[in-house]
Amino acid sequence: MMEIFTGCMSPHVAPLQRDHMRLVWHSPLRGEQRVRVIAWTCDCRATVYELCHAGGVGYVRRTVQLEGAPEVHETYRWSFREADGVWTALLGGQVR
Ligand SMILES: [Zn+2]
Repeated sequence: MMEIFTGCMSPHVAPLQRDHMRLVWHSPLRGEQRVRVIAWTCDCRATVYELCHAGGVGYVRRTVQLEGAPEVHETYRWSFREADGVWTALLGGQVR
């Protein structure tokens, strides 16, 4: 992916494609332990996405950085491989 250097260390999601798929975003599960954040998008944007692994499953966490109270949502749980695919599609603007 070609990107003009902007000083950002992490990727940004690509503009949303017209024929994109919509992810279902849920409230975060409580009591989940040992969440490993595998990849994340740049926090210079109001919305930050993270690829998470926890207890053998993968999912994407979305944080909207609002003044005072960030709004957090998560996707369904998938296998690591499926979650990787969703993450790649998310960065490419194919799902959101
Ligand atoms: Zn950035």
